[in-house]
Amino acid sequence: MDEFELIRRFFQRQENSPVVITGIGDDGAVVRPPPGKDLVTVIDTLVAGTHFPLTMAAADIGYRAVAVNLSDMAAMGARPRWMTMALTLVDAEASWLEGFAEGLHWAAAEWDVQLVGGDTTSGENVVVSVQMTGDVDPGNATYRSGARAGDTIYVTGTLGDAAAGLDRLANGDRNDYLYSRFARPSARVATGLALAGVAHAAIDISDGLVADLSKVIEASAVGAELDVHLLPLSAALVDTVGPEQALRLALGGGDDYELCFTMPKSLLPPDLPCEISAVGRVTESGQLVCLDQGVVVPFDDSGYRHFR
Ligand code: ADP
Ligand code: MG
Repeated sequence: MDEFELIRRFFQRQENSPVVITGIGDDGAVVRPPPGKDLVTVIDTLVAGTHFPLTMAAADIGYRAVAVNLSDMAAMGARPRWMTMALTLVDAEASWLEGFAEGLHWAAAEWDVQLVGGDTTSGENVVVSVQMTGDVDPGNATYRSGARAGDTIYVTGTLGDAAAGLDRLANGDRNDYLYSRFARPSARVATGLALAGVAHAAIDISDGLVADLSKVIEASAVGAELDVHLLPLSAALVDTVGPEQALRLALGGGDDYELCFTMPKSLLPPDLPCEISAVGRVTESGQLVCLDQGVVVPFDDSGYRHFR
C-alpha cells in the first residue's frame, strides 16, 4: 500500500465541514473560520511506549490522539473545528490502520472536527501527532492565569480512574471501566464552552490534579487549598484499589482529561453538561496545600506518573 492509497483509504472523508473549503488532497488545506472569532491552536504528540502502551488497541490509540486535543480545546473554552495529523508508522498494516482511523474519526465526529491534512512517514516507532484548531469569541478564551483569591476550585467528572486503568493493564489485569477511562477519555468540550467567558481560569488534567493545579496557581500568582476528602472518586476506583491509593491516583495519577477550573461560586452556570465537584479554594498564599478535613496532609506525587 503506497502513501496515497493509505491516506485515501483511511483518512480522507468526503464531506467538508462548513469551515473547510479544501481538505486532504492538495499541498495545503484551505479553511474559512467564522468571521470575528479568535482561533485557538493546540497540538499533542503520542509516542508508543511513552504515552501509550504498545498493547493498546489501534482504535483506542486513534480515539485518544483526538480526545487529548479536544481536552485542550475544552480547557481554553474553544469550539474545535479542524485538525491535521503527522503519523509515523513502523509498518503500514491495513487492519491496524483501519482500527486506528475508525477511532480517530469517531472521536472527531462528535464535534464535527475534520481532518484536513497531515503527513505520513515511516520510522522506528509509532508516533501520532495531532494538531487541532478551534475558535472562541474574542476575549472569551479561558486561561491558566485568571485565578483569583476567593475563587472556588472545581473539577469535572471523577479523578484517578485512567491512572488505575493503565496500572491494571500493565499488570495484565483489565478492569473495563477504569481502562476505558484511559483509552477513551471523554473530553469536556461542552463544559469548556459553557465556562468560556465565565470561569476565571481553567486547565485540563493530564499530569494529575496537583501538578496541573500548580501550573494554574503559578500562572495566576495565587495559592490554593485542596480539600482531599472532597475529591470525586468513582466507586469502581475505590473498589479496585482501595481508598488510600484512590486518593493518591486522584491527586497525582494523571491522564484524567477532566477539567479543573476556578471561579466564584455565585457565578457558576446552573446547568453544566457534566458532574462537577468543588474541591477547594484559591488563596493568596502562593502555595498549594492539601487538607484532609482541615488538617494539612503532605503530598508527594513522585511515583504516580505513568508513561511520561
Ligand atoms: P506533500 O507532498 O505536498 O507534502 P503529501 O503527498 O505528503 O503532500 O500528502 C498528500 C495529501 O494527503 C496532503 O493533502 C496531506 O495533507 C494529506 N495527508 C498526508 N498524510 C496525512 C495524514 N496522516 N492524515 C491526513 N492527511 C494526510
Ligand atoms: Mg508530505
